Amino acid sequence: MNGYFITGTDTDAGKTSITAALLRALLNKGESALAIKPVQTGCTQTKSGLQAPDAAVYAEFAAPYFPHGYPDVCCRKFIPACSPHLAAEWNDETLDVDQLTREVQAMAQGRSTVLVEGAGGVAVPLAAGCTTLDLMQRLDLPVIIVVGNKLGAVNHALLSIEAVRNRGLRVAGVIMTHTTAPAKADMPLLRDNTKTIAREGHVPVLADIPFLDGPDYGKSLVQYADKALALLQQQKDDCPEDILFDRKHIWHPYTSATNPLPTVKVRSAHGVRLVLEDGRELLDGMASWWCAIHGYAHPNLDAAAHAQLGRMSHVMFGGLTHDPAIRLCRTLREMSPNGLEHVFLADSGSVSVEAAIKMALQYMQASGQTARTKLFTVQGGYHGDTCGAMSVCDPTNGMHHLFSGLLPKQIFAPRPACAFHQPFDTRSLDQTARILEANSHEIAAIIVEPIVQGAGGMWFYHPQYLQGLRHLADKHGILLILDEIATGFGRTGKLFACEWSGIVPDIMCVGKALTGGYMTLAATLASENVAHTISRDGGVFMHGPTFMGNPLACAVANASLDLLRTTDWETNVHNIESWLDQSLAPCRDLPDVTDVRVLGAIGVVEMKDEVNMANLQEFFVEKEVWLRPFGKLIYIMPPYIMSREEIFQLAGAVHEAIRTNQHR
Ligand code: PMP
Repeated sequence: MNGYFITGTDTDAGKTSITAALLRALLNKGESALAIKPVQTGCTQTKSGLQAPDAAVYAEFAAPYFPHGYPDVCCRKFIPACSPHLAAEWNDETLDVDQLTREVQAMAQGRSTVLVEGAGGVAVPLAAGCTTLDLMQRLDLPVIIVVGNKLGAVNHALLSIEAVRNRGLRVAGVIMTHTTAPAKADMPLLRDNTKTIAREGHVPVLADIPFLDGPDYGKSLVQYADKALALLQQQKDDCPEDILFDRKHIWHPYTSATNPLPTVKVRSAHGVRLVLEDGRELLDGMASWWCAIHGYAHPNLDAAAHAQLGRMSHVMFGGLTHDPAIRLCRTLREMSPNGLEHVFLADSGSVSVEAAIKMALQYMQASGQTARTKLFTVQGGYHGDTCGAMSVCDPTNGMHHLFSGLLPKQIFAPRPACAFHQPFDTRSLDQTARILEANSHEIAAIIVEPIVQGAGGMWFYHPQYLQGLRHLADKHGILLILDEIATGFGRTGKLFACEWSGIVPDIMCVGKALTGGYMTLAATLASENVAHTISRDGGVFMHGPTFMGNPLACAVANASLDLLRTTDWETNVHNIESWLDQSLAPCRDLPDVTDVRVLGAIGVVEMKDEVNMANLQEFFVEKEVWLRPFGKLIYIMPPYIMSREEIFQLAGAVHEAIRTNQHR
């Protein structure tokens, strides 16, 4: 949906005439524009039904373009001239903001630009616990604020601007108007209002309209609207330049700096959708790389960030502590498998893996096993892009060849061969046991992703294999590090993937979904044995990132974990699993597909050959879904709040893409 939400500083600020004039100016330019009034109060009863006063003004301005009459653009109409929540209540109704959003979106279908006019100002209630701001946020349009220019306007305008921006919405500009003729003596004050609002609100003034009267009133107003549209167009024209700058100067992950894969510009995100710069919405099947489990712009997470922002965004963690970190570490200790007593807060998944590796080495040093400096892992793993983490990524599809001079040589066993859904084949552990046995004198720790190998191939292996690793680690006095960064917080159907095996690691890394995808934060949890051994005889763990325990990230993580613990994520993930199973099944019949597998909220289609990522990305965006395949894999990892219909839409797009050979 493309267009603007038009709100005012007050009832009677003049926003209806402005909306109508903007509508006419757009229609004059050949646009298929429509002005919509989602909730209209103050209607009059006529023989043909309720007459909406604002829609009548739109109809008057737009008359030449609607020879058969202006359409009914009000979702709800009420007779009492009062706040929508009250008018609805008097009518024994309740306004539902999601329903209103859907109706506005339906009316906007096929229109190049829509102007959605609110009722009164931004804080006008629509129902209990819900104001016009909620509707604005759901519609996610840039906002034009019509300011009735009079005494008190600066306060009203600046508060409205702040409230709109606090909801993550863009204020496209203000339009200054008069609904009554001002006294001459007030003119300097009114001129200053305009200047002050622009300066203090950091907003463009799209029009500063004097009091208009007389027969040419409408014509003059449309002229002002026309100029406002020109300024708005200028804002839009800046965009292509941004994309060019992005291509030329900004490094995106795993792509060339000189010939990068195309990027898609996102304006905002809400629920399970990404909103693109041009107003198109993509259904998100990636949860931003495993993170956004609750969906985007969740009110609880937003509120937690805002509240913490008001107190402090960051303080150093050396020598200082704070509530958000204490609460988070308490929760992590409670949630994670029993025995992980010590929490080290890191600033990204990779850093938490580095911390885990360093903990293992310091543990061996502190316990006098100084020869044990190597890590044991399996092929097909992925643990991050920093050096220690890279050294335990898959040696073939990872980045070893580029950094072989730098990376420590670790010890690898084959990828766990026995798949999650197969009966366990004990032989799949034989070679692992042999390699471990032969090298145990120099191994400090085993590090693996439990059950699901993510970026290394989206492979689901058998829980008994992991039990076997725990057993082997104990047998040889080696530590077991589990990297739950991708799998943690419910993704596989268990809170942590190691629960499939009923084992507890000595060290565990979490990240990604920890903040619900809001910002970067990770943690390395360690057993009492690990922490106490390192700290023996005055020893200290030698790591301390600048942004360790960032309060803002901890506050959002607290809100995210609260939400996880109070929602039925298990049922949601279980449902998604069965929908993915059903919806991806037809892909099995496609000749280029070698395997389709599903576990929890992860659905994978493995192809025979590497896919054409650029082609697929373009196709998916066209189909209004967001999926980003890699290697031979096209996969779906949605937020946990996704509906059956939406999962089928994602899977349908995958099937169609392969059926029509977009992957080649
Ligand atoms: N471990 C695993 C299992 C991961 O999937 C990732 C990220 N894809 C990382 C570590 C690294 O995390 P980050 O990107 O936050 O550094």
